[in-house]
Amino acid sequence: MGGGAAGYFAAIHAKTAKPAKKVLIIEKSNKVLAKVAISGGGRCNVTHNEPDLAAILEYYPRGRGLLKWALRKWGVTNTIRWFERHGVQLKTEEDGRMFPITDDSATVVDCLLHEAQRLGVECMTGTGIKEFEPLSPKGFRVITEKGDTIISKTLIIACGGFPKLSQFEFVAKHGIEISEPVPSLFTFNIPDKELHSLMGVSVPGCKVRVAGMDSGPEKGWFSGPVLITHWGLSGPAVLKASAFLARELHAANYDVTVLVDWTGMGEEKARSLWDADLLMNAAKKVGNTNPFHFPARLWSLMLSRSGVSEDCIVRDLSKQDKNKLLENCIRCSFSVKGKTTFKEEFVTAGGVSIAEIDKDTMECKKIPGLFFAGEIIDMDGVTGGFNFQAAWSTGYLAGVRAIEKS
Ligand SMILES: Cc1cc2nc3c(=O)[nH]c(=O)nc-3n(C[C@H](O)[C@H](O)[C@H](O)COP(=O)(O)OP(=O)(O)OC[C@H]3O[C@@H](n4cnc5c(N)ncnc54)[C@H](O)[C@@H]3O)c2cc1C
Repeated sequence: MGGGAAGYFAAIHAKTAKPAKKVLIIEKSNKVLAKVAISGGGRCNVTHNEPDLAAILEYYPRGRGLLKWALRKWGVTNTIRWFERHGVQLKTEEDGRMFPITDDSATVVDCLLHEAQRLGVECMTGTGIKEFEPLSPKGFRVITEKGDTIISKTLIIACGGFPKLSQFEFVAKHGIEISEPVPSLFTFNIPDKELHSLMGVSVPGCKVRVAGMDSGPEKGWFSGPVLITHWGLSGPAVLKASAFLARELHAANYDVTVLVDWTGMGEEKARSLWDADLLMNAAKKVGNTNPFHFPARLWSLMLSRSGVSEDCIVRDLSKQDKNKLLENCIRCSFSVKGKTTFKEEFVTAGGVSIAEIDKDTMECKKIPGLFFAGEIIDMDGVTGGFNFQAAWSTGYLAGVRAIEKS
């Protein structure tokens, strides 16, 4: 069920394992692999160059307990090798993201389409699965939106995530627990004209924290570049915070205070660096110093937010001014009022609870023969190719285990 990344990978590996079996993809829309086609700004960020299992798991706010096993069976190295074997050479960018060397997602789409066709995977488009019924002693009756009935021995649900709980009813009605869906991977809306005037400024090596929220690998702090936009804050550190705190932010109605450590080094280090800089530049105008090597416009913002004139001589700064300035550099606070979808990549947190799924096979514990793969599962990663990697890994495992059972 579903002709996306997970559905295609499951079908290809099922058919590879048992070529004599019939494998059918049922896709609701008229176009298969639509998200792969638009992904990564049209370049498709296929995976992330992080072959270490423990390290890659850190990038998944939800679903690690399940994904750990799927990644053991099908990790990043398997993905890279598989695509290479099928004619898609991948390259790694500085931040670890991997793209096809063509910089064109069509290369990935064509590869999957071609391989499925070569193997004889069938595909039915333009009609979704409306419901399914487990048959006794085994198998499924699948009913499409057009009213067709299909009998299958096993069924893999790989229909992606949904924004509303009600959209999971076709699964929930079989007694399968669904974790409520909430958005993940978004940017922060900050109604602050002074901030907006710095639109386009990107600051590498920052840390971001949402006041009162301590989840995440660095106890509430999220590292990475921060990008100032015309509506607020974006960039990898903000997107990471939005993913790890997806549920807490949803509960707070996206009305929170965000703190930015523009130095990324924390109070102790920043204070000693700042003290040394003050001594060296005592006779200079404060506007002509820039102790943390910020983009010039950001340093000006720090000064204006602290009420310090650019013309003030460093040695004349009061203790209060110095503290205020340092505070703005390491804990610059902004009021967040809402969120904006990150158009390059967005995913849903929530879905089929991982407690419902056998970690070795991706099979539903309550309904033998039923498998799950991809974003339908309560499992999601931050940006950088982690979501596709989860789709390849769980798709592979569901495909080979489902065909073994059929
Ligand atoms: C704009 C955008 C860009 C992205 N870029 C990246 C990226 O570069 N790297 C990355 O790692 N992740 C990226 N992601 C996330 C990634 O696309 C998803 O995590 C991934 O596609 C999930 O794969 P899936 O097969 O589980 O679901 P999907 O790709 O959503 O596929 C599910 C399919 O099931 C079909 N379907 C739904 N309901 C039914 C039904 N009732 N019957 C039959 N079929 C049904 C849908 O039409 C769809 O084709 C991006 C997401 C978006 C929105």
